[in-house]
Amino acid sequence: MNIQPKIIYSPKYDIRFFGIEKLHPFDSRKYSRTWEKLITEFGSQLLKNITTQPQKPASQSELLTVHNDYYLNLLKSSQYVAQALELPPLAIVPNWIQNQFVLTPMLWATKGTIIAGEEALKNGIAINLSGGYHHASKERGEGFCIYSDIAISIALLQKSNKIKKGEKVIVIDLDAHQGNGLERIFHNDPDVLIFDMYNQDIYPQDIWARESINYDIPLHLGTQDEQYLSLLKEKLPSFLNQASEVKIAFYNAGTDIYESDPLGGLKISENGVLERDKFVFKNLTEANIPWVMVLSGGYTQQSYKLIANSISYLLHQCFINS
Ligand SMILES: [Zn+2]
Repeated sequence: MNIQPKIIYSPKYDIRFFGIEKLHPFDSRKYSRTWEKLITEFGSQLLKNITTQPQKPASQSELLTVHNDYYLNLLKSSQYVAQALELPPLAIVPNWIQNQFVLTPMLWATKGTIIAGEEALKNGIAINLSGGYHHASKERGEGFCIYSDIAISIALLQKSNKIKKGEKVIVIDLDAHQGNGLERIFHNDPDVLIFDMYNQDIYPQDIWARESINYDIPLHLGTQDEQYLSLLKEKLPSFLNQASEVKIAFYNAGTDIYESDPLGGLKISENGVLERDKFVFKNLTEANIPWVMVLSGGYTQQSYKLIANSISYLLHQCFINS
């Protein structure tokens, strides 16, 4: 495989909502901050050469490859959206404002993951600087996740026959939370294999969804680098060895495993996050599997630095050392 990593990014990813950061421990600008940090390091010329910018948000018909009309109608209710975003005060905000400042950026990010799926198949590696809404399922939004960007990307690749029947897709979900939305969508789907390593002591604790995890690695509150990395190094290679005819992998690289994260409940250092990503990158690339990375959770003011560290490592591997 001739590997030419692509970055997918739009300034429209940022959630521009006056005061949302006071309602949720969320850095609503982590996407553009990551981008700006990479520009500082690599210069705008290199970044622009390898970046694809979505030209429009995900369309209704793209959403309908996974979600249904019933659910998309629910999103016209301010109360419903506020609940799915876990921001109760937003229930009194008119739906058009929710749309403009929160849902529309998520639609742009969803388009980014769709493009990342196509780019990974063409170029080997694609990183969308947002997305990873792994709690959203077909008919339900929850945990700050509205659209199942990864499932939509997979459905569209299957629809266009870029992923053929019988070809496998793997999802490696290393966000601190169980990826219950994806697990619900792919329940009993033999073509999508899921590796999920997460803190079992926090939300969502979804027992039914858990049945569809192929490699289920629950952790406890306070898990530290040594245990985390040794489990990953033991389990991920055997997951990849067992999966055959894999067409593409989606890596949900949540940085909420970081020790300062207010939601993840794990104790992984900055270096531990980088070691995790390096290990995943190396294993996927050595297995010759095209892969997409999405950012998923990560709720500190330092989250963008952790993401940029990993992408910087990857770009150095591909462009500086080659
Ligand atoms: Zn998370």
